[in-house]
Amino acid sequence: MTELLFATNNLHKLREIRDILGTVCSIKCLKEVGRDIEIPETCDTLEGNASQKAWFIHEKTGMNCFADDTGLEIDALGGRPGVFSARYAGPDCSFDDNIEKVLLEMKDVADRTARFRCIFSLILDGVEYTFEGVVNGKILTARSGTGGFGYDPVFLPDGYKQSFAEMPPYLKNGISHRGRAATAMEHFLKNRH
Ligand code: IMP
Repeated sequence: MTELLFATNNLHKLREIRDILGTVCSIKCLKEVGRDIEIPETCDTLEGNASQKAWFIHEKTGMNCFADDTGLEIDALGGRPGVFSARYAGPDCSFDDNIEKVLLEMKDVADRTARFRCIFSLILDGVEYTFEGVVNGKILTARSGTGGFGYDPVFLPDGYKQSFAEMPPYLKNGISHRGRAATAMEHFLKNRH
């Protein structure tokens, strides 16, 4: 089975990705291979950051590996917070600070369309492959639900009546940006021979 290093120490993401890819490859995170590395993330696109992180880890470890980067793109805000999603409200902000800023900027805005977009960059035998996952939805006018993380309480995916924060994890993971990008990578890994 192919062994892949996931350029993360986020156990929540690791569990989610193992659920999807666990039957096609064996996935390790940085801590599991004894590498507690600070990963640079200095590009101004999701694609750039995912690629930068994956190549950085590949160069440090020599292993086949992959990295992800996600952004929430809100149409009425010209695609913001986008690549700045993690620290939208400032350098040391919390998930709640970010939500507060978005709700304020979206106050009285009628067009609430938005999407989560996730990019996976995979380095396999020295070659880079890119996968994208998108989930379209709307920004709610107030928080709803307590599950998940990040912007989940204010994101209502199209076709559902529950925010991401109100959904059981299996339901969110089945339709989420990260779930879709990971599934695209799974198909590639399954069919590459
Ligand atoms: P990352 O690139 O996966 O670290 O994501 C950057 C930021 O996007 C996170 O800090 C969260 O604020 C937000 N984000 C990523 N994935 C999700 C999600 O599944 N739900 C809600 N917010 C998310």
